[in-house]
Amino acid sequence: MEDDDPKVVPIKLRKCARCEKPVVHEFRPFCSRRCANLDLGNWFDETYRVPVEDADGLDDALNDEDLDAT
Ligand SMILES: [Zn+2]
Repeated sequence: MEDDDPKVVPIKLRKCARCEKPVVHEFRPFCSRRCANLDLGNWFDETYRVPVEDADGLDDALNDEDLDAT
């Protein structure tokens, strides 16, 4: 039985996290220094933002209450 897991992708097939061009090893997970810098800029702008997962949890709790009320 062969264990051919499609989730395992060779690093050279990775795409740039910003523009989806092929990743360059030196700048991974980006294709170029420009993309890396752009992403770093975003990251610093959004430092200390509340994680999205927390907002989802709140939504779920509110939805549950709505269902109970109806
Ligand atoms: Zn890129």
